Amino acid sequence: MKYFIRAFGCQFNKADAERISQLLEKKGYKRSPIATRADLIVILMCSVRQKSVDKVKYQISNIRNTNKKAKIILTGCVLEADKEMFERMGVEIKKFADLERFTPITGLITIGQGCDNFCSYCVVPYTRGREKYRSQAAIVKETKHLIGKGIKEITLVAQNVNSYPNFTGLLQKITKLPGDFKVKFLTNHPKDFSDELIKEMAKNPKIIKYVHLPFQAGDNEILKKMNRHYTRQGYLKLISKIRKAMPEVGITTDIIVGFPGETEQQFAKTIEVVEKAGFKQAFVAKYSPRPGTAAFCLKDNVPLEEKKRREQALLNLIKNKNEKKKKNR
Ligand code: SF4
Repeated sequence: MKYFIRAFGCQFNKADAERISQLLEKKGYKRSPIATRADLIVILMCSVRQKSVDKVKYQISNIRNTNKKAKIILTGCVLEADKEMFERMGVEIKKFADLERFTPITGLITIGQGCDNFCSYCVVPYTRGREKYRSQAAIVKETKHLIGKGIKEITLVAQNVNSYPNFTGLLQKITKLPGDFKVKFLTNHPKDFSDELIKEMAKNPKIIKYVHLPFQAGDNEILKKMNRHYTRQGYLKLISKIRKAMPEVGITTDIIVGFPGETEQQFAKTIEVVEKAGFKQAFVAKYSPRPGTAAFCLKDNVPLEEKKRREQALLNLIKNKNEKKKKNR
C-alpha cells in the first residue's frame, strides 16, 4: 500500500505531516512521491486565507481526476464552513489530536496545539481549538530520542510557545541534555515574550539566536481591532531589548496588509516599524476575511490592487534594507 502526503501552510502542518508519515510507515505503508500512484492521500490543510483553501480544492479535484480509487483524508485547519464542500468531493475529514504516540524523524517537536488568543482575523482557535500543551516529561523524552538519532537542530513548535507553562524552564531542561545539538522555537507572541526568556536566550549557547515575532500591523488602532494586545511602541521596545541582549540575533516577522479600514496613514505606521526593526525576513499576507472570525463582520474595504501595492512596498523595503546591510558589511 502506498501513501502520498502534502502539507499546506505553517510549520505545525509540516510537523504533523512527519508524525502521520511515521504512523503510516509503522503500519506498512510506503511513501509515494506522486498522488496518482497512492492508495491513501493525506492533505494537511491551511485555512488562513481563501487562497489557501482554493489551492487545496484545486489539488483535490486534480487528484480525483487522475486517481479515482484513492482514499483522501483531509486534516489540519479545516473550517466548519468548508467541511460540507470537501465531503461532497469524497474527502474524509479527520482531526489529528492523538499525536503523542508517534515518533517524528525530523527535529520538529510540537509542544502544544491550539490557541487562546483569538486574534480577530485568525481561524486557529476555531479549527485547532483552545491551547493544550504536552507535558515537559514527554517533550524531554522526545528530544532525547531525536538527539540519539543524530538530529542537530531541534525546533519546538506551538501557535504561541510563550504561553507554554514555564517555557524558559522547558528550554533549560532540554538544553541541559548531553549532546551536540541546538534548539530554536516558534511562534512567539509579542505580548508574552518575557524578559526571563530574553535573558535565557542570551546566556544559553545551545539556544539559536533566532526570533520569529509577528507584529502584523504598525498602527495601534488596527492592532486593537486585530485583538493583538500590544502597541507599535511596545513592539519596538521589545525588539530593542532583544537586540541589546543578543546583537547577533536574526528577527523575522509576519505582517498583514489591508486589514478592514486600514488607511494609507495607518499603513505608513507599518512601514515605520519595518524601517526601525531591521527584520531579516517578513512574511507579508494580504488580509482575507475568514468565516467565523470576529473580523469577518468588518467590511473588507481595502481593494485588492491596493493590498498588492502595500505588500510589494513592504517586500521591496525589506529587500533594499537587507541588500544595503550586506554591502556595508
Ligand atoms: S496568536 Fe493570534 S494569529 Fe496566532 S494562532 Fe493565535 S489567534 Fe491565530
